[in-house]
Amino acid sequence: MTELDKEREPTFALVTGGSRGIGAAICRALARAGHPILINYRSNDDAANAVKQQIEEAGGEAELLKFDVRDRETSRAALEEVASRPRSVGVLVNNAGIARDASFPSLSYEDWEDVTRTTLDGFYNVTHPLVMPMIRARRGGRIINISSVSGVVGNRGQTNYSAAKAGLIGATRSLAQELAKRKITVNAVAPGLIETDMIADAPIAEIKKQIPMRRLGTADEVASLVAFLASDAAAYITGQVIGINGGLA
Ligand code: NAP
Repeated sequence: MTELDKEREPTFALVTGGSRGIGAAICRALARAGHPILINYRSNDDAANAVKQQIEEAGGEAELLKFDVRDRETSRAALEEVASRPRSVGVLVNNAGIARDASFPSLSYEDWEDVTRTTLDGFYNVTHPLVMPMIRARRGGRIINISSVSGVVGNRGQTNYSAAKAGLIGATRSLAQELAKRKITVNAVAPGLIETDMIADAPIAEIKKQIPMRRLGTADEVASLVAFLASDAAAYITGQVIGINGGLA
C-alpha cells in the first residue's frame, strides 16, 4: 500500500458506550460518514449486537469492543490490541456515562465514585492508550467528549454528575492545547435533556416546561453534531464546548 493509499483509508471511530442511546446514534452516524466503527460497551450484549447489525445492514463495518471504561487494565489491554492494527483510530468519542442522582446530603460515596470514575477515569483509561498511536499515525484526529449542560451550569441533585462532566470539560480544554499542533482536535459536546434510557425516570412533563423549545432532544440530533465535529469541515474547531439543549443554557 502506498502512502497516498494509506491516507485515503478510512480510520476507525471508537465510541465508548456505543450500545445504547446517544452512543448508538453516534455509531450509526459515524458509520454513515464512512468510518469502520468500534462499539465499546460494558454489559448489554443484545443492545450492542443490534447496533452492529444496523450498521452492517446499512453497508457499514462495525466490531464490538466490550470492556468497562472504569477498569484501567482491561481498557488498556483492549486498546493496545486495537492500536497494534494497521488501521488507526482517527476518531474517539468518549460517550460512556452514568447518572446516580441524589441531593448532596443523601449522596453515597459509592454513587459519587461510580459516576466520577465512569466519566473521568473512563476518559483517561480510553484516551491515554490511544493518543500516542494517533500522533504516530500522522493523520490528525478527533477526540470528542460527551459532557452535559449539567457540567456547564450545574443541576440540583447532580453534584457527582456535574463535577464529573465539568472535569471532562477541563480535560478537553487542556488536551486540545497539547494536541493542536498535531492536527488532533479535542472538543466537548454538552447536551441538555435527550430522550434515552438515562432519563427514563425523570419527570418529563415538568422538565419540558423549563426548556425554551418545550421538547427533549433526540440522540440523532446529538449524533449529527458529533459527526460534524468528526468531519474534515471541523478541522479548525478545538478546545470548545458546544451546547445542544433547545435553548436551556
Ligand atoms: P444510556 O442510554 O444510559 O447509555 C449509556 C451507555 O454507556 C450504554 O451503552 C452503556 O453500556 C455504556 N456504559 C455505561 N457505563 C459504562 C462503562 N463503565 N464502560 C463502558 N460502557 C459503559 O445513556 P445516554 O443517555 O445515551 O448517555 C450517553 C452520554 O451522554 C453519557 O455520557 C451521558 O452522561 C451524556 N448525556 C446524556 C444526556 C441525556 O439527557 N440522555 C444529557 C447530557 C449528557 P451498557 O448498556 O452495556 O452498560
